Amino acid sequence: MECQLTIDLTDQKKEKPAHDKLAFGVHFTDHMFVMDYTEGKGWHDPRIEPYSPLTIDPAAMVFHYGQAVFEGLKAYRNQEGEVRLFRPDQNFKRLNRSLTRLDMPTVDEAFMVEALKKLVSVEKEWIPTAEGTSLYIRPFVIATEACLGVRASHTYKLIILLSPVGAYYASGMKPVKIHVENSYVRAVRGGTGNAKTAGNYAGSLKAQTEAHEKGYEQVLWLDAIETKYIEEVGSMNVFFKVNGEAWTPMLNGSILEGITRDSTIQLLKAWGVNVVEKRISVEELFQAYQNGELEEAFGTGTAAVISPIGEMSWNGNKMVINGAKTGELTQKLYDTMTGIQYGVVEDEFGWSVKVTE
Ligand SMILES: *Cc1c(COP(=O)(O)O)cnc(C)c1O
Repeated sequence: MECQLTIDLTDQKKEKPAHDKLAFGVHFTDHMFVMDYTEGKGWHDPRIEPYSPLTIDPAAMVFHYGQAVFEGLKAYRNQEGEVRLFRPDQNFKRLNRSLTRLDMPTVDEAFMVEALKKLVSVEKEWIPTAEGTSLYIRPFVIATEACLGVRASHTYKLIILLSPVGAYYASGMKPVKIHVENSYVRAVRGGTGNAKTAGNYAGSLKAQTEAHEKGYEQVLWLDAIETKYIEEVGSMNVFFKVNGEAWTPMLNGSILEGITRDSTIQLLKAWGVNVVEKRISVEELFQAYQNGELEEAFGTGTAAVISPIGEMSWNGNKMVINGAKTGELTQKLYDTMTGIQYGVVEDEFGWSVKVTE
């Protein structure tokens, strides 16, 4: 499909934010990657160009019927100045699964990894080096055809934005308080829960706002059919250490298949921890809690990597996990995973991909 990647560099570079002033996703680099799709022609004109607003027809289908999918990964720069990506091939594989689910055209995964490496290397001065900081990468695809008819668009745009982000845990890992959501659901079997699509997020915001108002940081989502089984926490996958084993909800079509989830499972297995992927009801978890067997709980996702859960509240029952402190296994996973990401811990899995020497 793709012809040569063209590069048009800006002569008006922006000022870079100070390392201690980085929040999440508010600063953007000087350039972006753009590629267009036209039915009959395929993906064409891949290019790196100056970051700028888009001109899009207000009738573009993305605004009306929500054909929009995205990805999220990071580039890490260590003290030696080496820049690395973490399993980028998996992100473009998943992008293709999301695209397929939303009836949108897929991309060439290998080409996209190469194009991303090029973009990151053009912008490498934007990657902060302070501990825990990184460059967040946001690829996304939107339907651009101007048409109000309900059908799949015939034209699309794929864009990759880069955003320097601060350390998620600027002052040490902090266990979060979770509200088990009983009325709103995130996704349903046969729906779009396992696609990374904007609509899933739009539908989740109200529950998150209400949980915040009640003093919780995140929502724990239950299955949509029986509202009994645990699916995800916020926009992360979730794990529980119960009686020495690691439990995580099995993939069922409504759970997003996290790359951090998969990496966590592989690490745990390599350490000899028994990983159990199964349907986990809140009821069963609460039983384990009452029996003193619920030892640790944490979420997994690119943004926080590993996020300890200190407290869960379900139907008026409060579970305080590990004295609301970060568990040992949780901490070890965080240290190992981030160590591999920054290239300071041996990567026996071949996950870390160097962008520069
Ligand atoms: C992106 C995402 C995750 C985490 O996926 P990672 O690949 O680990 O970053 C989990 N749940 C939802 C709903 C997501 O959108």
